Amino acid sequence: MKIAVMPGDGIGPEVVSQALKVLRVVAPQAETQEAPIGEAGIQAHGVPLPEPTLALARKADAILFGAVGVADEAAIERERRPGTGLLQLREALTLYANFRPAYMFPELIGASTLRPEVVDGLDIVIVRELNGDAYFGQPRGFEINQAGERVGFNTMRYSESEVERVAHAAFRAARRRHHKLCSVDKANVLEASQLWREVVTRVGQDYPDVELSHLFVDAAAMMLMRRPKQFDVIVTGNLFGDILSDAAAMLTGSIGMLPSASLGYERKGLYEPVHGSAPDIAGKDVANPLAAILSLAMMLRESFEMDDAASRVEQAVRAVLAAGYRTADIRQDGTQCVGTRDMGDAVVEALHRQAA
Ligand code: NAD
Repeated sequence: MKIAVMPGDGIGPEVVSQALKVLRVVAPQAETQEAPIGEAGIQAHGVPLPEPTLALARKADAILFGAVGVADEAAIERERRPGTGLLQLREALTLYANFRPAYMFPELIGASTLRPEVVDGLDIVIVRELNGDAYFGQPRGFEINQAGERVGFNTMRYSESEVERVAHAAFRAARRRHHKLCSVDKANVLEASQLWREVVTRVGQDYPDVELSHLFVDAAAMMLMRRPKQFDVIVTGNLFGDILSDAAAMLTGSIGMLPSASLGYERKGLYEPVHGSAPDIAGKDVANPLAAILSLAMMLRESFEMDDAASRVEQAVRAVLAAGYRTADIRQDGTQCVGTRDMGDAVVEALHRQAA
């Protein structure tokens, strides 16, 4: 079990160190090695994805990732932006399918901004394509138009094989769950989406046991707020997935609760909380570490086939929530507000109690 640990920036190191505490309990045999990425990579080696960091990622069995980013990142040129480090890493390892479960812990129903009956029992997975779309499509850039104005442009681009591989990943995920897959696109307007829909439909013929439906992204956004429980697995492109998965995150109360896994052709995966580096709360010991801890659980299950250890971690998280521990983002009346470290310690204690 060789795990590359990339805490990154902002709250990344704070939440990843809690996940590592948990790892030491459930898989003490794991070997971990740390490397800088994002702003930390720039500080150490002058680039957001330093060569030694990429080399470590290539030889690791899995990557535990925190978050990258600094405030006002858009003002920095793209090659030196901390977030570019993560995009380059996903591309270099061909991690093309990002799994983002949004699961409603019964203990947190009151933390959602939606009515309890809308989110009670919510359990969906968004599969977001990660290597294509406007985020990588060429050409991109800035130019001057005939009126002398600056114009920014990107290209939304998908090849058949890119859609096929992520569609297969999503159909397989649906097979392991409730056999329902909703593909989200904007095929009424965009050619890239038209191709997406055709390819997903074709791939669906290999999975007759999975009920396939299609929604335009605007309708999907509405449905996610109105009747989110109708969904089982959603598959969508990079841009729409980025937005919809953050919206789905809020259904469950806080982005601080949501883990994710980015997978490619092998079992190697990159596991990270859905949230970013949260510069507004970094260094204050208030960030919720549960998304990072639940990302570790996904790693144990997906990359190491350690289902029991993964379930132990998830049960420990439920136990601390049931015992009333809350970080500030999920605070409710009658609960005990704890910091990042104390929340990590509470999960570790819950694990020890299971063993006893
Ligand atoms: P963010 O997810 O960092 O923060 C959004 C809001 O949620 C903030 O108010 C923050 O305080 C809160 N929040 C986030 N995680 C939390 C946690 N664990 N516990 C409690 N509250 C939490 O998104 P942002 O503010 O849009 O972006 C900040 C930086 O992070 C930017 O530089 C952005 O590019 C980067 N970012 C990185 C990733 C990644 O590394 N995968 C993802 C998203 C954003």
